[in-house]
This record gives sequence, C-alpha cells and structure tokens, in this order.
Amino acid sequence: MSEYTPQSISEYLKHRLDTHRVETISYRYGTVIKTGDGVCRISGLPQCKYGELLRFENDVYGMVLDLEEDRLGAVILDSSNSVKEGDTVVGTGKVAEVPVGEELLGRVVDPIGRSLDGKPLFSKQFLPCERKAPSIIDRRPVDTPLQTGILSIDSMIPIGLGQRELIIGDRQTGKTSIAIDTILNQKNSDVICVYCAIGQKASTISGVIETLKKNGAMDYSVVVAATASDSPAMQYLAPFAATSIAEWFTEKGKNVLVVYDDLSKHAVAYRTMSLLLLRPPGREAYPGDVFYLHSRLLERSACLSEKLGGGSLTALPIIETMGGNISAYIPTNVISITDGQIFLEDELFHSGIRPAINTGLSVSRVGRAAQSGAMKAVSGTLRIELSKFREMAVFARFGSDVDASTAKMLKKGQILTELFKQPKSSPYSVFKEVVLLLCYKSDIFYDMDIKDIKSYSSQLLKYVYEDSSAVASKIDSTGVMSESDKQQIISSIMEFKEKHNE
Ligand code: ATP
Ligand code: MG
Repeated sequence: MSEYTPQSISEYLKHRLDTHRVETISYRYGTVIKTGDGVCRISGLPQCKYGELLRFENDVYGMVLDLEEDRLGAVILDSSNSVKEGDTVVGTGKVAEVPVGEELLGRVVDPIGRSLDGKPLFSKQFLPCERKAPSIIDRRPVDTPLQTGILSIDSMIPIGLGQRELIIGDRQTGKTSIAIDTILNQKNSDVICVYCAIGQKASTISGVIETLKKNGAMDYSVVVAATASDSPAMQYLAPFAATSIAEWFTEKGKNVLVVYDDLSKHAVAYRTMSLLLLRPPGREAYPGDVFYLHSRLLERSACLSEKLGGGSLTALPIIETMGGNISAYIPTNVISITDGQIFLEDELFHSGIRPAINTGLSVSRVGRAAQSGAMKAVSGTLRIELSKFREMAVFARFGSDVDASTAKMLKKGQILTELFKQPKSSPYSVFKEVVLLLCYKSDIFYDMDIKDIKSYSSQLLKYVYEDSSAVASKIDSTGVMSESDKQQIISSIMEFKEKHNE
C-alpha cells in the first residue's frame, strides 16, 4: 500500500479537480403575454430563432413564427386552450424535427413524429422538417418512368421519377383515388411511398389506410397525418415532415413517391395561422409568401445525381378547385411550380368516364423523356387522336351526316374512351397497357359494340398474358419491346380473336 502517499493522493485529487468540467445548463425563460385561437405573444427569449420549438407548461409545444424587437409570435401545436396568459415558456433551441428511418415503414405518424397507430415508435434518427432543396449540380434529368398503372396517364401524361405532377380537380372527382392507385402500383417496384394527409376528416384518412393495408401497400408506405381537428400549425408542418421522412430514403439511393393530399387545405391552414399572427393579407386573404410556401416544399423533389446515390423524390401534390376554376390563386401558383398537371373534370366523372381526366388540359412537361420504349412505341399519336375525337364528337351530336373517315375517327375515339375507363384499385402492368394499345392500333375492337369492349378486353388480356408469358415478364421488368416481341403479342391477340369467334 506504499504507493498511496499523501503526496500522490493530493496530486490525484488535484488532477481530478483540474479535469472536472461543470456543465452549465442554461434555460431561457419567457412569459406568455397574450394568447388565443392557437397563437400567442411571448415576452423574453430574445435569442430565439425563426421556427424554434418552444415548450410551454404541461409539455405543450409551440413554434416561433414571428420575431419582433421585444416579443415573439408563436403558434401552439397542441389544442389551443392548453396555454394561459402568464405561463412560462422555455426555448428548446431546436427547430421542429421528425423521426426518420426504416422503422417508419408501415407506420402512421403525426407531423412531429408521434405514433398515431397505437404502437410505440422507437426511432434513433431525426431530421428537421424544413430542409434545403438539392442544388442544381446535385440533380440529374428525369429519365426513368414511374408507372401509375392507369392506362390514360401512363400513355398520354407519363410521369418520371423525380417529377412533380399536380393532380387537380373539383371535390369528389377521384383525385385521391389516382394517387392511391399509383401507390398500390408500386407493389412490385422498389419505390417507397409516403402519403401525407392534410386537413382531412379522420374517417377519410382511416379509409385510405384501410385500402393500403388491404392491398399490401403499407409494407412500403408511411402515412403522415394532420386531420381537420389538428391545429393549423400541425397542418402547416405536415407536408414538410413527410418530405423529410421521404428524403431520408432518397439520400440512401432509393426512389420515393410523396403524395400531398391536399395543398389547398395546406394553404388555408397557413392563411389561418398568418391572419392570427396579424400578418397583412394579400390576394384571397392569403399572405404574400404563400407562393414561397409551396415552391420551397416542391423544390425538394428531385432526381439526385449518381454522386449522391442516384435516389429520387417524386411528388404528387393534390389541389382542389372550386367549379373547375384552375385560374384561382393557389391553383395557378402550384401549376406554375410543378412539371405538369392531371386535370380531373366533374362533368366527365358524372358521365361515367372514370378516371375523369381532361386530356386537353392535362400535360406532363418532362415525363415523355422518361417513358419506357414499349409504351412510346404504342402511344405516340393518342393525344392528337383523342382531341380530334372530342372536337368531332361535338358536331356529331347534332345528328348531321358524317363521311366515312369521320365516322371511323368517331368510332375509334369511342373505343379509346372506353379503354381508358378503369375502376379504382385495379392498376395495369406495363405489358397489359401495351397490349391494350396494340389492340386499339390494330383495330381489334373496331367491329364490336362499345359496351362489350370491357369484358372482351379483360378476357383477351388474360389469354395474351398466359400465351406470351416470357414476353410479358420481359416487358414488365425492362419496359423494352423488340419487333419480334411485338409480332409475338400480335399473333397471340389474333389467336384469341379466332378462338373467340369460333
Ligand atoms: P375529395 O374532394 O373528397 O377529396 P377526391 O377528389 O379525392 O374527393 P376520391 O375520394 O378519390 O375523390 O373519389 C370520389 C369517389 O369516386 C369515391 O367514392 C370513389 O370510390 C369514386 N371513384 C374514384 N375513382 C374512381 C374510378 N376510377 N372508378 C369508379 N369510381 C371511382
Ligand atoms: Mg381526396
């Protein structure tokens, strides 16, 4: 025990004292001076940042959205009556964050990452909700198709991975159905899907989750939900949180699809928040920065360069119009930000043409470049044929006699319209889409009654799929169709036709 001399002990203690660091924990306190309708004014906390999270008493959270000289304006994330005047507030020093990672697959979460499906969520990684969009050199052009499984979209308004395609239309015209069908169609691809519900009824959201579960799509999907009864601040955060969850996968080199359902309600939530914070109202009472709100969100969709892993983030924002008016403030804003739109029409929907896509007003500005070879080969002139048909159909309604070539065009237009009708939750594979369009091109349905086409084509698809199964799996996996593949498909179609006529 000789080594423990008084000297060595005092040296040891001196060393411990020298190396010991007392961590100073400083809390920054402020006081609520005014509160009401989900917003509050706070005095104190001069170092707070824009977007910083605040903790009120009872573990209620809020977010700073107004920085004034001597006070702050903040929105409350929980129910608005949980904060009283005189309450103390602590600045957390953190901006709003959301948990990210593989654990989120199959889960339903709210915009700040609290689980909504009754199961605990253990996530080790977090990302801020607001992040910078990838820069120009971080991106590469859109070159790979994202198959929606909806014949009219894949053939005429193709969407590419990394594209932003707006789905726009009046209420109850099938907007959500198109987005959900696209998610269901990713079952056999490697695309991860994030569905973000903003300001919808809880019952509608649970219906969507039920559809996803029933079709086995929850395994590769995440649902981020802020319902109509959540505070406007939660609804405002939802799409940003959903994008951060998606970006985590994108940065790992994956392809991700995000659906924002819908950005009209998002703009309304932001307007509510801004008006309560006494920001000056602009057109339609929206604040001046509502364009920036959506442009910074949608700029985050991208096709990343190979150096950054080559992942992609495709966005399908949804906008609800009133009376088909696409020139209102929010629709024009989002149309100008996105790379195209799918316009759904009430009139078409009620005349039984579902999905009710108005092909004249729908465009895809970058998707053509991404369309698969097989699809390109069979879909070239469809848009022109359909628009000519719509034009002619108006005249034909007056019962005037038409010449033979116009009659043919009308019949072909009717056939195409019939082929484009598709019930929901029944996406087609690439091969099936190619076969249907090949049939249309080679006038297989020309002599038939329009009402018989649906049942005939489904039998035909089944037969051709079995008869040319090697070609089918090749086209489904590569999207390429050689001339011999095409001949093989056509001979299967003819075989079916002969058998059917016997
Ligand atoms: P909301 O404005 O309420 O959000 P929405 O535009 O999202 O409505 P959906 O909820 O997708 O529309 O669809 C409205 C109704 O139309 C639903 O009852 C749905 O079942 C039906 N529907 C949608 N697409 C089709 C389709 N392709 N074939 C048949 N019915 C459809
Ligand atoms: Mg909807």
